[in-house]
Amino acid sequence: MSSIADNIAHLKSTLPSDVTLVAVSKFHPVDTLRQAYDCGVRDFGESRVQELKAKVPSMPADIRWHFIGHLQSNKVRALLPLVSLIHSVDSLELLRCINREAERIGKTVDVLLQLHVAQESTKFGFDVNDCVSLFGSVSFAELTSVRICGVMGMATNTDDEVQIHREFAEIRRIFDTMKQRFFAEADYFNVVSMGMTDDYPIAITEGSNMVRIGSYIFGPRQY
Ligand SMILES: *Cc1c(COP(=O)(O)O)cnc(C)c1O
Repeated sequence: MSSIADNIAHLKSTLPSDVTLVAVSKFHPVDTLRQAYDCGVRDFGESRVQELKAKVPSMPADIRWHFIGHLQSNKVRALLPLVSLIHSVDSLELLRCINREAERIGKTVDVLLQLHVAQESTKFGFDVNDCVSLFGSVSFAELTSVRICGVMGMATNTDDEVQIHREFAEIRRIFDTMKQRFFAEADYFNVVSMGMTDDYPIAITEGSNMVRIGSYIFGPRQY
């Protein structure tokens, strides 16, 4: 079995230099995360607030923590002080809630809008029409404590590579449209988070610049 260091070295040698690697460390203990940290990884992804909260104090302070799981409104308050980017904003209500809490603590919170393009009905997120109406709306202009930095999306879990290509291309296309129409002047709107262990090479071909990789680095998760 190859080591975490080998896996990271291999990823780093194959990822284009403008693609950020987020090491998805959910369900792995902090000593495992530490090995990745020692290889230079500074971006870690977690999907549960409780788990993130438990890990942060045991890890170095220069880590950028990414939240990638489904986020419930009642967990937002606990999450905000810890996180540097929330990938999984999947509704206007949640965006409003994050804005309210961010305002309360005097912080501007960086978020990505999670787009829904995959076939599975279980996947949360915005579709194109939601995005267009969101940015056109008055209520959006009032959200001054969140900074929308781009989009996140997942492809359908399938062996059909044509379909995976198509879905990632769709996410990228929505990003480009949003950039052109609403964020042309905003340098911070520049993140396309897509690609996991099984599909990240395809995601990169289709224009991802942030990949979220867990099993490839750490091996299977112990639930
Ligand atoms: C778990 C998870 C990942 C990482 O998945 P792997 O297949 O282990 O690379 C990426 N993104 C999200 C949203 C996840 O929940």
